[in-house]
Amino acid sequence: MLRQTFFLASLLGALNLYYAEDLALQILSGVLFLLCLGISVIWPEPLPPPPPNDLWSDAPEKKQREMKTCSSCGKAVDLKWTMCPYCSKRV
Ligand SMILES: [Zn+2]
Repeated sequence: MLRQTFFLASLLGALNLYYAEDLALQILSGVLFLLCLGISVIWPEPLPPPPPNDLWSDAPEKKQREMKTCSSCGKAVDLKWTMCPYCSKRV
């Protein structure tokens, strides 16, 4: 938006330069034309474009544990355990 405004101002400056008859006014219009055209060309965009949506992958839902069932009470216990935490018997 700002670039278009400066470009419009430079167009007005060029128009002024074309129609002005006074020398000082011609110089001022030329300066306005060059300045605004330069700003409208080199002015940076205010914000960079947003990143794409697939830049980050989704986290895994839940870490799956290796489980086995207790032979005496039937509840799920960790695979590395030798004692059941529920019935305190050997798995
Ligand atoms: Zn058990």
